[in-house]
Amino acid sequence: MPDNSLLTDQQQLLEKLQQLQQDYIATLPVDINNLQSLLDAFPDADHSNAIQRLNAMHQLLHRMAGSSGSFGLTALSEQARELDQRIQVWLADEAMPTRHDIGSMHTAVTALSNHLQASALQRFHIASRPANDRVASDSMTVWLSGDNTAANRDLLKQLSAFNYDCRLVMPADIHAAILESAPPRVVLLDFDSDADTVLMALNGIRTEPPRLIVLSRHDQFDVRVKAVRLHADGFFLKPISAPRIAERINQSLKGEQSIPERVLIIEDDTVLATRIRLIVEAEGMEAETLEHAADVLSVLGSFRPDLVLMDLYMPEFSGLDIAGVIRQHHHYMNLPIIYLSGETNPEKQMEAVRNGADDFLVKPVSDVQLMAAIRSRIHKYRLLESQIHRDSLTGLLRHSMAKTALYNQLLQAKRQQKPLSVAMIDIDHFKAINDTYGHAAGDSAIGSIATLLKQRLRVTDIIGRYGGEEFMVALPDCSQNDALRLMEDIRQKAAELQFPAHDQTFSCTISIGISCTETKPEADADQLIDAADQAMYQAKHNGRNQVVLCQPPDAGTL
Ligand code: GH3
Ligand code: MG
Ligand code: MG
Ligand code: MG
Repeated sequence: MPDNSLLTDQQQLLEKLQQLQQDYIATLPVDINNLQSLLDAFPDADHSNAIQRLNAMHQLLHRMAGSSGSFGLTALSEQARELDQRIQVWLADEAMPTRHDIGSMHTAVTALSNHLQASALQRFHIASRPANDRVASDSMTVWLSGDNTAANRDLLKQLSAFNYDCRLVMPADIHAAILESAPPRVVLLDFDSDADTVLMALNGIRTEPPRLIVLSRHDQFDVRVKAVRLHADGFFLKPISAPRIAERINQSLKGEQSIPERVLIIEDDTVLATRIRLIVEAEGMEAETLEHAADVLSVLGSFRPDLVLMDLYMPEFSGLDIAGVIRQHHHYMNLPIIYLSGETNPEKQMEAVRNGADDFLVKPVSDVQLMAAIRSRIHKYRLLESQIHRDSLTGLLRHSMAKTALYNQLLQAKRQQKPLSVAMIDIDHFKAINDTYGHAAGDSAIGSIATLLKQRLRVTDIIGRYGGEEFMVALPDCSQNDALRLMEDIRQKAAELQFPAHDQTFSCTISIGISCTETKPEADADQLIDAADQAMYQAKHNGRNQVVLCQPPDAGTL
């Protein structure tokens, strides 16, 4: 079904781009005039003055070649580039152009005005993003399609504890199931049953096709390739671990609603910078343009981009200067930097890439190509960052990263004058669980609680593994009462989880303490954590398996 708001967005974007194109074309006669004045004074110029003039013309033409191409003035872009190359030859040899050279340059510059006609703008596709919902699990229907075996029934029972709406559908019944109910979001496809029948039936689904996760008894290359060709989100060997499947289902579904990618644009040509910003934003990403190079570090700190898109030649500092400063900071070692420049000399491109950049795109670049480069770099960067900053057992932020993230969220919450809640969560009598069922069973319980947290919280919430069996959660834009309701729900769900241990299962409970900026407006990140921690100990003291709010300051005791 066409989404009207999306169509309006498309139309608006197109209009904005057209306006920018007009604005840009309006500036060109001035540039052409300037070029002519620079040429006019040539006969009287001494050597050093001539070099200065050639440099000024080089800068003007270089920018014109890059920007005009991006605005659809292809012929002008090519002409400007050709003239720029002539000038660069003179500059390289420090040779004075002859009277004849100047004459022919004059004619060529005047001819630039013949190319002020832009080709029509391409319609750009605007990506849509599903809403980012805190209670994401409500519509998580999962079908396990396979035979009615004890193992499958057991898997289903365990997955139900993760709050999925689970159902076992045998291959023979799949057609009927699709006809009589809404299609599932995820299908766990058992390759050891009649998978082809299932796939054929799934192909008939007219709406959004479900995500596939393949289960199999056979660890063979061709079986794995078959899963790849089906674009499955995962391949799991039997015996199946329910928490790991739950984790993968989460990834499949939350991947669709991840935090928007952030792109920092550093480009001295403000019209071009605005154009790129519009294109990036139309893809559902966030973009910011840097006005002053000297502010780069503070903008990196506040905007926290996933990628920097940078011009190479700018009046005061070059892209190489700025990239160099960024790379001096250990924290931004992996931050992708893509140069977007009119530089066509491969030597200079290589030099830029050697100096800490990840990619070099030559202006003009098509919007589609630009977005593909941005997207793939950000995807790899986020994967790398998550491996560095996340704990391997749970995939949650490590202690120090969780604190840094809370610190940043608190700054933002204060700026936006919105509440922020912090919860400390600790598994009850965990030592006894380890002692009774073994360390591996303990680990799987920790992993499952982590999965439950990820599933119940928003992608913008911070979830950290704070200690062994202790978690820290920060909820931006969440009042104390909302936090209490949410944590109470999580406490109940956690108690329903069943963990396998040899031939038995066990469960556990959690104690939770909550603090909130509503009652502690002056508190910093450490004080909020402390207050939540004390509330959590109060919950332990009160008999565990409960949620306690931290005392407001006037209660005096804490
Ligand atoms: P309480 O209800 O008061 O929190 O009791 P508890 O037994 O949970 O608390 P305590 O802090 O005494 O014990 C925590 C235990 O968690 C001790 C430690 O061996 C275990 N633990 C810590 N990290 C891990 C881990 O990564 N895996 C496993 N299996 N156990 C862990
Ligand atoms: Mg520039
Ligand atoms: Mg504990
Ligand atoms: Mg503990």
